[in-house]
Amino acid sequence: MLLIGNGRLITHDSLNPYIEDGCVVINGNIIEDLGTTDDMKAKYHDYEYIDANGKVIMPGFINSHMHIYSSFARGMAVPGKPSENFMEILENLWWTLDKKLTLEDVKYSAYSTYIECIKNGVTTVFDHHASPNAIEGSLFTINDVAKDLGIRTCLCYEVSDRDGKLIADKGIEENVNFIKYASKDDSDMFKGMFGLHAAFTLSNETLDKCAKEMQGLDSGYHVHVAEGIDDLKYNLGKYGKRVVERLNDFNVLGDKTIAVHCIHVNHAEMNLLKDSNTFVVHNPESNMGNAVGCSPVIEFLNRGINVGLGTDGYTSDMLESLKVANIIHKHHLCDPRYGFMESQKMLIDNNQKIAKAYFKNDLGIIRKGSYADVIVVDYKPHTPMNENTLGGHMIFGLSGRSVDTTIINGKVVMKDRKLVNVDEDEILEQSRIFSSKLWNRVQKN
Ligand SMILES: [Zn+2]
Repeated sequence: MLLIGNGRLITHDSLNPYIEDGCVVINGNIIEDLGTTDDMKAKYHDYEYIDANGKVIMPGFINSHMHIYSSFARGMAVPGKPSENFMEILENLWWTLDKKLTLEDVKYSAYSTYIECIKNGVTTVFDHHASPNAIEGSLFTINDVAKDLGIRTCLCYEVSDRDGKLIADKGIEENVNFIKYASKDDSDMFKGMFGLHAAFTLSNETLDKCAKEMQGLDSGYHVHVAEGIDDLKYNLGKYGKRVVERLNDFNVLGDKTIAVHCIHVNHAEMNLLKDSNTFVVHNPESNMGNAVGCSPVIEFLNRGINVGLGTDGYTSDMLESLKVANIIHKHHLCDPRYGFMESQKMLIDNNQKIAKAYFKNDLGIIRKGSYADVIVVDYKPHTPMNENTLGGHMIFGLSGRSVDTTIINGKVVMKDRKLVNVDEDEILEQSRIFSSKLWNRVQKN
């Protein structure tokens, strides 16, 4: 039994959102109980105790769209002249870098990214992977790292025709192998999805093949949808269909599928997303960075579409993503009424729903019976904190780098900002060596 007490407990449970002097009781990997610290200490005996010392205790965060493979791009000089649009960003940066990745690079990208996630209080990561010349075993390599660090994850490989048929086929195979492997495991710590890059790099033949391979697998797709205007133009020009419409022809939509971005979509496509219960994931910082436009997320939410919040590899800090999700819609709509409630709904309620589509038990919430993914954040409010003011403290007060303890599946994986399972400095040293070699290969391209 593990008790984390003497903290300001934010539960993300609307029935019991906040306990001023709160305590969480963990039994194995499950939240056994919660209440005031005095009550819990009186009720339970023989426990290990973590004193939160007045800091915030809250559920770990879920990142519903991440790219581990992008990790080594940090600080890298992008070859050629500055990219003028999203297609050039893909070609000059991402499609140059991903082709040079080896399995060893993938391994250290996974270590460095997952470590950052844990340090920002992120306890579940939905990743979308690409390493076209090191596909076989790539998801298994990432998963071994996740196991080593003790973080919960859901993995897929992005199938694409952009590097030819053979590489597309290998991507399909990796997805199928990993989904099957994950489905046989009962730890509920890792899951597999079927990754697709985007409709504008997938032929009908390949989409057909993916649909056939997906039959009998209990999973969904994880795909970029209408991120740049070029995705829409390509699909309209070549197939006479809009992006969501074309993907729908191949049964890509569904209640386990994540459609990432959905920026250039019309009302008919919104109806398709809604009627199929497809999840959308919003990545505000990435969209601003790539200058691709602002996703009509407020309208999605008004229509009842489940929109979650991701980072697209731009950051590992969900609180940073929350802050930007709060302001991008005010700015875009020139209306300060929007964003505050919606950004929280995406990060909290809807990421919980996305996780629940894959993991057997509740995540991202502290209530009896949910998985024990709990963080302690070094934040002491200077204004009243109660169930009516939590949003303001989340958006304007908390930050990922203030997380000092991360507990995943009942195990302490970070204490006092130090990872407990691994030698962090040694891993970062190795990452710097591998990333420097990768940069050299990219420049020789
Ligand atoms: Zn992405």
